[in-house]
Amino acid sequence: MAVVWEELEQYQPIVLRLLANSIEKGRVAHAYLFEGQRGTGKKEVSVLFAKSLFCFNRVEYKPCNECINCRRIDSRNHPDVHWIEPDGQSIKKGQIEALQEEFSKTGVESNQKLYVINHADKMTTNAANSLLKFLEEPYRGTTAILLTEQYHRMLTTIISRCQVLSFQPLPPTVLANYLKEQQIPLHLALLAAHVTNNREEAIELSRDDWFAEARKIVLQLYEALNKNNLQALFVIHEKWIPHFQDKQQIDIGLDLLLYLYKDLLYLQLGQLENIIYRDRMNDLQQWALTCSQKRIIQNMSTVLQAKARLNTNMNVQLLMEQLILNLKEGRTFV
Ligand SMILES: [Zn+2]
Repeated sequence: MAVVWEELEQYQPIVLRLLANSIEKGRVAHAYLFEGQRGTGKKEVSVLFAKSLFCFNRVEYKPCNECINCRRIDSRNHPDVHWIEPDGQSIKKGQIEALQEEFSKTGVESNQKLYVINHADKMTTNAANSLLKFLEEPYRGTTAILLTEQYHRMLTTIISRCQVLSFQPLPPTVLANYLKEQQIPLHLALLAAHVTNNREEAIELSRDDWFAEARKIVLQLYEALNKNNLQALFVIHEKWIPHFQDKQQIDIGLDLLLYLYKDLLYLQLGQLENIIYRDRMNDLQQWALTCSQKRIIQNMSTVLQAKARLNTNMNVQLLMEQLILNLKEGRTFV
């Protein structure tokens, strides 16, 4: 189903407001640069904006999503809307030249044309220079949208000819709601929405049995820590090490542990709306009774230290054993 304006508005309110204004006032720029991390909706907004420009039944700034133009844009079949993707590792000069050639003709069906260049930072120098000329002398009725996750890699000469719109990472609460709409259980949705702010990654993660199991192990580890060192080391050797196999997985595991400490802190501060492990509220309340705020904060910084040490070549088993002892004793890494 086509994404509608209201949906994207929740994720990128500022960008959508700006685009709505430019459509309503008939002041669409010659070129836009959409910059922001992967999964922030740049492509979806491009599609929506293209539909708004070409829709036969637009209401205010919103496309109908049903007319022939809307449908052809959705299926990438509109003759006056062109999409350029990297050809292998880069976007080549030939691709930009072909586009210019195409655009030198008037619109096939109207005098309006739009092109979208995905991963615009991947243009070769020659391609970028070709595009630059095109941006300097745009044909009438031509709109360009460049998309990038690597803003710092774009030529400043290109940036200066575009209206730059920054796409913000999705707030966890918005992302968690989106995941819930995808039938993902709340306890996993909340957690995944904190681990990543990318929608696709969050869906993948929360549907992965590995992730649900990771959550279980982290809770078991915390419970064992409350008992004694031996139990905690047992969980590390028997469950943690076999489950969290590479650095990326261990990093997620440490994040999950960090969120647990954060929950205890939120609970003590009375900020219940921020709690992530809310399905374990009874346990959290018990645990929060037995530790001071100072200790929780200390343990959070110890987990952060362990995360930082992951990037050194420290042996993982040793790292985890030290982490356990440090958490138990309320010490930091030395
Ligand atoms: Zn339409």
